[in-house]
Amino acid sequence: MIIGIDLGTTNSLVAYYDDEGAKIIPNRLGGRLTPSVVSVEGDQIYVGEVAKERMLLHPEDSAAVFKRTMGTDAKYRLGGRLFRSEELSSFILRSLKEDAEAFLGEPVEEAVISVPAYFNDARRKATKHAGELAGLKVERIISEPTAAAVAYGLYEMQDDAKVLVFDLGGGTFDVSILELSGTILEVRAVAGDNYLGGEDFTDILEELWFKKTETEAEGLDDRTRRHIHRQAELCKLSFEREKVVKMICTIGDEEKEALISADEFEKNCEDLLERIRIPVRKSLSDAKLKLSEIDKVVLVGGATRLPLIRRLVGRLFRIIPDTSVNPDEAIAIGAAIQAAMKERRESIREIILTDVCPFTLSTEVSIEREGGGFESGHVCPIIERNTVIPASRTETLYPLYDNQKTIRVRVLQGESRFAENNLKLGELEIQLPKGKKDDNSVDVTYTYDINSILEVQVRVNRSGEVIKQILKGQDVDMTDEEIAARMEELAYLKIPPREQERNKLLLVKGERLYEENFGEDRLVIEQHIRRFEQALNSQDPVRIDAAREEFREFLEDWE
Ligand code: AMP
Repeated sequence: MIIGIDLGTTNSLVAYYDDEGAKIIPNRLGGRLTPSVVSVEGDQIYVGEVAKERMLLHPEDSAAVFKRTMGTDAKYRLGGRLFRSEELSSFILRSLKEDAEAFLGEPVEEAVISVPAYFNDARRKATKHAGELAGLKVERIISEPTAAAVAYGLYEMQDDAKVLVFDLGGGTFDVSILELSGTILEVRAVAGDNYLGGEDFTDILEELWFKKTETEAEGLDDRTRRHIHRQAELCKLSFEREKVVKMICTIGDEEKEALISADEFEKNCEDLLERIRIPVRKSLSDAKLKLSEIDKVVLVGGATRLPLIRRLVGRLFRIIPDTSVNPDEAIAIGAAIQAAMKERRESIREIILTDVCPFTLSTEVSIEREGGGFESGHVCPIIERNTVIPASRTETLYPLYDNQKTIRVRVLQGESRFAENNLKLGELEIQLPKGKKDDNSVDVTYTYDINSILEVQVRVNRSGEVIKQILKGQDVDMTDEEIAARMEELAYLKIPPREQERNKLLLVKGERLYEENFGEDRLVIEQHIRRFEQALNSQDPVRIDAAREEFREFLEDWE
C-alpha cells in the first residue's frame, strides 16, 4: 500500500485509497489532523497534539513551523541536540507511518508526499530525505495545488478547464493556476505570501479584544498572552456559525469580555484581504489570464473556512467556490489518489501531471553602458518563472571583447534583476577560439526536468565544443550513505507506544493548567493529576481506563 501524506506547516495528514475512494487515516489519538510540532523529552520524541501541548511549557525542547526552513541548513535545538528541518519532519512522518500501519494492519513502506508548488529542488529533495529518514520510500513528490485539484476530481472533468487553487493555511498563502486539457493537468502559475495565514486573522481578533477591553498588552506574562491568543483562536472558529462572538479572557483574577461582530472583524481585516489579492493578481498575470477566465476556484487550508474569506473569493471571481472536499484534507486526499494512480488501480484513470518551474533560472551578464564600457552583475533570464516543465531553453551570448579567452556562465535562481540578489547554483567556464567578439557566440541551454534537475549546456558555436553540468541546487544534499548514517543516529529517539500517548496528552494538559492557575485551584488540579498518575502506576488497564475518562472530563470542565 502506498499512502499519501500532506506534510503541512501547521498540520499534517495521512490518507489511503481503497475501493470506495481516498480516506483520511486517524492518528493515534483519533484525530484527523496531526499538528506539525515535535518535542523531545530524554530519548522520547513526541509529535502532534502532545508536542503542541508540551511546547507551551517546554518551548526549549519543542519546535513548530520548521517546514519554512526545509532544504536549508537551519538548525533547531531541542533537548540540547541540533536537528535539521528534514529530521524534525521525519519524526512527523514516522508517526504518521505508524498510525497508517496500525490502522491498515499492514506494513507501509512507500508514500507520496506533497510540497508547496514553489519548493525548489533543494527543498523537494529535503522532503524526500525526510521520508527516507522515516523509513519510507518516497514514490513521488506532488505539488500541493496539484494534489488539491486531484482531490476535487478535476482530472475527471470532461471539458478543458482553468482552475485556481486558493490555499490559506495557518501561516502561508498560496495561489496556483492549473489548466486541464485532455488528460493533462498542468500547473500554469504559482504565487503566494509566505507570511500570511490564519494566524494573522487570530492576531487581529487579539488586537480588537485589547482595544475593546482597554487592556495594556505590555507587562502581561507569556502565559497570559498565550491564554489570550487561544481565546482569540476560539473566537475566530466561532465565526463559522455566529455573527457576533463574545471573547472572554482572564487577566489575574479578572474576567474581561468583548463582543466582536463579524462585520467589525471583517473591517479590521481589510489590510490582510488586500495582501491576499496581490498573489491572486500576480498568478493571473503570469498565467496570462483574466479573472473571468477562471472556471473553478478550489479552497484549501483551514483558514478558508472563515466566512469573510469565502465572501472575498465570491466577490473576486463571481463564482461560488467549490468546498465539496474538506479544505483541511484535500491535499492528503489528492496525494492518496496520486499514490493509487502510481499503483495503477483500475478505478481511476492515469493522468499526466506536469508542473512549473517556480522561479526564474538565469545567467549573469554584463551590459553596455551608454557612455561606453560595461556594467557587470546583470541577469539574462533563460527559463522564466512559471514555465511549464520539463522545459529546455537556449540563449545566445557573446563575449565582451575580441579575442576573449574564456566565457564564464554563472547559473542563477531568483527574480532579482541583479545577479548578487539571486541564488547562485553553479558556474561553468569554457575556452573560446580566437576571433572577433561578434563571431564568437556561445549557446547556453538550460533544461529543467520534472524532477527539478537542471542541466546546463554551453556550446561554442565556432568550434562546436560542448560542456555540460547537472546542477542540484543548494548544497545541503545528503547522500544515501549520509541518510543511512543519520537514520541510525536518530534511532535512539523513540516515539512512545501508541497507547501511552493518550495518557501523556492528558498529563501535559494537566501540567499546563497547573502552571496557569494559582492557590486553591492548583491544589485541586494537582490532586487530579496525582490520582491519574497513581492509576497509571497500578498498570491495571481497567483502572487506567476509568481514571483516564475521569481525568479527561475534569480537564475539559476546567477549560
Ligand atoms: P492548515 O495549515 O491548513 O491546517 O490551516 C490552519 C489554519 O486554519 C489555522 O490558522 C486555523 O486557525 C485555521 N482554521 C481552522 N479551522 C477554521 C475555522 N473553522 N474557521 C477559521 N479558521 C480556521
